[in-house]
Amino acid sequence: MDTIQGAMRVDNMAVALSDSSNIKPFLLHKVIGFNKETLENICSHQHFCQHLQSIKKPIVIDELLSDHEKNKEDNLLADAKLLKDLGVALVLPFVIKGGINSLVVVGTKITKEAYTKEDIELLTTLSNQASVAIENARLYNNMEEMVESATAKLKKMLKTQSEFLDISSHQLRTPVSLIRGIISMMLEGDLAKLPQAKQNEFLQTIKDKSDKLEVIINDILSASDFDSQKLSLRPDSPAIQLEDVVDAAVKSANEDARERNIELKWQKPSKPMGAIIGERKYLDQAIGNLISNALKYTPSTRMVKEARSQRETKGMVEVSIAQENTNLIIKIKDNGIGIPKEEIPKLFAKFARASNATAMYTDGSGLGLFIVKEIIEGHKGKVWVESEMGKGSTFYISLPLVKSN
Ligand code: ADP
Repeated sequence: MDTIQGAMRVDNMAVALSDSSNIKPFLLHKVIGFNKETLENICSHQHFCQHLQSIKKPIVIDELLSDHEKNKEDNLLADAKLLKDLGVALVLPFVIKGGINSLVVVGTKITKEAYTKEDIELLTTLSNQASVAIENARLYNNMEEMVESATAKLKKMLKTQSEFLDISSHQLRTPVSLIRGIISMMLEGDLAKLPQAKQNEFLQTIKDKSDKLEVIINDILSASDFDSQKLSLRPDSPAIQLEDVVDAAVKSANEDARERNIELKWQKPSKPMGAIIGERKYLDQAIGNLISNALKYTPSTRMVKEARSQRETKGMVEVSIAQENTNLIIKIKDNGIGIPKEEIPKLFAKFARASNATAMYTDGSGLGLFIVKEIIEGHKGKVWVESEMGKGSTFYISLPLVKSN
């Protein structure tokens, strides 16, 4: 609006956004000078809207009047007259993906001169750019709506827990505002002024933060599902080879391990083990979660104090599987930060995070281990941890083998 007002020297202006949820197809969002209600009503007149939809180009009110003058019954003529009386000179539709997403209504010039062909061309260019910006703004709103709905689920799940405020505001809103900040820079052309390497860095940040947001939102949705209905095996849940599930989980964590410069060790048993009954998708989620935690809470290298000297150890995560009596035991061992002894008992509860972890890694939701526990207990199994502060942790999953007759 500022650009148009400055360039054209107009007195009155308004912006209307299309709104499919309202009986009026366009709602005025900003008005300078015009009578808001009258203008909003005319913009919603059926004939005028149909005309806009069919031409999808700027409408010059004087031209519309002279084109339709001969036909006194013409409803469009009536609308054109109303607009003229209100002081409207031009209506610019902003078109995106074939539909009109907004209108800019422009009054007469202060100088009372008519709009030239060049004026209209300039206004068309501006309206094309603005329509993209408006559409992008709507996309952010959609993202915010997604966050709002995850937040609402969280609220329901928590009701009384005070950690809610921390998690919802920080874990969800921070990545969104970062993404929004970078996209605003792009829209304003500021990003394009930076060196290519810097631009790429910003784009990578958008990708990383969106990925993180997706993980957290999925965790919230999973946890909220398990919270309202415990997972239980179906009567027809299949017999599966657990070592294959572990193998797949390790494979998908390999890239992450490489990026973090941590050695991820796993030797798939050469002979097939006994089968268990279960749902692959959930077991994969549970095992994947434990491996990803082990990688997350293990520094790539660390100085270790020995009797007299200091030695550097490399970050290492070892995954293995073995049979013990009638169970299969998966072991996920790391040499990372460990867990304070007194905090271990609460770790599998919703939102629980140990004090040493929050200091190292601010982005966690504390829902991962809760989800793991729900999944494993839903499979009639057990999950537990042994850990020593500063030395590392070992998580165990035990699942019952299919009974052989
Ligand atoms: P998040 O990782 O999002 O905080 P989780 O539920 O997955 O949530 O884990 C809960 C807490 O358990 C973590 O915050 C951390 O304190 C602790 N934890 C989990 N895995 C490990 C590990 N491998 N080493 C040390 N601490 C761990």
